[in-house]
Amino acid sequence: TSVDAVPNPTSQVDQMLAYVYEQTRPITHGVLADYIPELSKVPADSFGIAVATTKGKLHKVGDADVEFTIQSTSKALTYCMALELVGRKEVLSRAGVEPSGDPFNAIEFSPETRRPFNPMVNAGAIAISGLLRDILGEQKAFDLVLDRFSRAAGRQLSLNESVYRSEAATGHRNRAIGHLLLSVGAMTEPVEPVLDLYFKQCSVMVTATDLARIGATIANLGVNPVTNEQVFDIDAVRDTQSVMFTCGMYDYSGGWAYEVGIPAKSGVGGGILGVVNRQIGIGTYSPRLDSNGNSVRGVASYRMMSDSLGLHSFDLT
Ligand code: GLU
Repeated sequence: TSVDAVPNPTSQVDQMLAYVYEQTRPITHGVLADYIPELSKVPADSFGIAVATTKGKLHKVGDADVEFTIQSTSKALTYCMALELVGRKEVLSRAGVEPSGDPFNAIEFSPETRRPFNPMVNAGAIAISGLLRDILGEQKAFDLVLDRFSRAAGRQLSLNESVYRSEAATGHRNRAIGHLLLSVGAMTEPVEPVLDLYFKQCSVMVTATDLARIGATIANLGVNPVTNEQVFDIDAVRDTQSVMFTCGMYDYSGGWAYEVGIPAKSGVGGGILGVVNRQIGIGTYSPRLDSNGNSVRGVASYRMMSDSLGLHSFDLT
């Protein structure tokens, strides 16, 4: 059952969250994503952190209930769905699992496999959206994706129509990637409905609390700890966390694994989803981004949380 997030001054986690929040809130550098006007118009100073445990408990501070678009964080979730629907072999035939060392929107494939490097960069994520479209059907694919995201979060999520329309109107680079995927055989025709699914999945509205709940569902072997529903396949969450760990933070993925050590996926909307296997899900939201496209306060607060709660995957204690 869900325990409500009334901060408890005697709770260690609440004390830690309040401390991290106060320490990182003064950080105001970084810039909003501006490739579409909708993203550059959000209140720049919003900042929220949420932690959800695999026992169903929620801790939060600041603007943890402010909605923003999930953007690239959706890539981890659609990857998890694809693994469950068609299995590893088929998924690997569309996108690999190697960090690319290239920007997220790079138009580049592995020279050996002629496939996108991994599903956390745009090319790989679009290939995975193509797979979902093939399996789920053009008409139903987005509804089923939205339903799955919603069940992972434990509440009905919705599409931000104006962000979606802007993404679709301006996403020419992603369209070019789609056609390249077609040319190497990593996607099937027609291309446009696949991009439509991709633009929609990026435009789903979430809060830091939703990301924490989604993270807790993944951490809890795919079972939403609040609703007790098996939302994701148990083997798929393992593979998804592996790819988040190695590729989830754009070109800071290696540094992140080293310093923070938590499987995570960020998005240019300003959110970061983190998963501490078997223990907790974490969500942060602050829209000012660093040069890699990661939320500045998000990265700073994860570093502090990882240290103070001992969350690094290779911590000794
Ligand atoms: N919709 C964005 C794109 O595909 C997502 C970018 C991101 O969050 O990394 O360009």
